[in-house]
Amino acid sequence: MRRMRKKILVIEDERDIADLIRLHLEDLNYLVSVARDGNTGLRKSSAGSWDLIILDLRLPGVDGLEICRRLRQRSEYVPILMLTSKSSELDRVVGLEIGADDYVTKPFSILELTARVKAILRRAEFFDRSKMQAMDTVQVGKLTIDPATRSAVVRGEAVELTAREFDLLFHFAKHPGRVFSRAELLDRVWGYGHDGYEHTVNSHINRLRAKIESDPAHPDFIVTMWGVGYKMSALLDREQCA
Ligand code: CA
Repeated sequence: MRRMRKKILVIEDERDIADLIRLHLEDLNYLVSVARDGNTGLRKSSAGSWDLIILDLRLPGVDGLEICRRLRQRSEYVPILMLTSKSSELDRVVGLEIGADDYVTKPFSILELTARVKAILRRAEFFDRSKMQAMDTVQVGKLTIDPATRSAVVRGEAVELTAREFDLLFHFAKHPGRVFSRAELLDRVWGYGHDGYEHTVNSHINRLRAKIESDPAHPDFIVTMWGVGYKMSALLDREQCA
């Protein structure tokens, strides 16, 4: 089977960095396009179909966070790798919260950047929409998840989920009763696990609970295993059969 070359958009105003990234990604056989300001970046990111967007946060014109926010309002999911400066911890946190997939802190080594790029693209392939369309609906208690439409219904009502929340829920639902540590969840659902990220898992779990649990403080579906991680309760299946 012929493999399509992956298309990557780099939105970065610093010419040296943009050129360096382009050079190395082209070496890895990716198709690379560069936008040097926020407005061009926003236009290109909405116009094309990209496999990945590498997004600098500090840009002339529309800034990176705003671009990220707008991309996440669209139904089509495109992975985003943020470039942040060392001093902007807040930007990183906000960026991850609004749906960036990962970040690299400037100054970064090109090896680190390409490793992240590969990891994100691997994950994106795993959660590929066209592959998910071939998967069956998953049922856990009163929760039904349809990977083909990326939709979830709980107690007869449709729930609105972000792309990441959906992937997380789907991952749990496929493995009822199995405990996953935060690091494992980062690795499997985010595609790349590293320190300082685990609060991202917690906040996604909290948001997911707010959407699917009747009492988020006493969850029925996604249960905390203290000191270990989280699991999808396996008791729900039995409940349903009873
Ligand atoms: Ca910049």
